[in-house]
Amino acid sequence: MSTIFSKIVNKEIKADIVYETETVLAFNDINPQAPVHVLIIPKIEIPKVTDLKGSEHAALLGDMIDAANKIAKDLGIDKDGFRLVMNCGDNGGQDVYHLHMHLLGGRKMNWPPG
Ligand code: 5GP
Repeated sequence: MSTIFSKIVNKEIKADIVYETETVLAFNDINPQAPVHVLIIPKIEIPKVTDLKGSEHAALLGDMIDAANKIAKDLGIDKDGFRLVMNCGDNGGQDVYHLHMHLLGGRKMNWPPG
């Protein structure tokens, strides 16, 4: 089922887009939890991590990691480090069922995450 993120991909809803390729889109989170909080999503609709198959989606996941590294470098957080998070399902704290990776940085992250 389509989510608000598909509407962002289709440019039906505005987002603060920071990076875009043929396969992925990245935009600032509307409710940032760190000085840098970017969401990196595939343009195709994949609801969650458990819908991924290494054999099918390896290239797409590579594109998402490339995007994270590029954005981290562009925003100057690559040297100090950052956190990538993919919440999956209820217990994982997933709210939007369109696969996404959170790129968080610009401050020291806590562990355990809570
Ligand atoms: P989840 O909890 O599913 O891992 O993360 C969903 C994220 O999407 C949340 O951090 C939330 O703030 C963000 N979000 C939800 N709706 C929108 C929206 O319409 N625009 C943007 N930019 N971010 C959104």
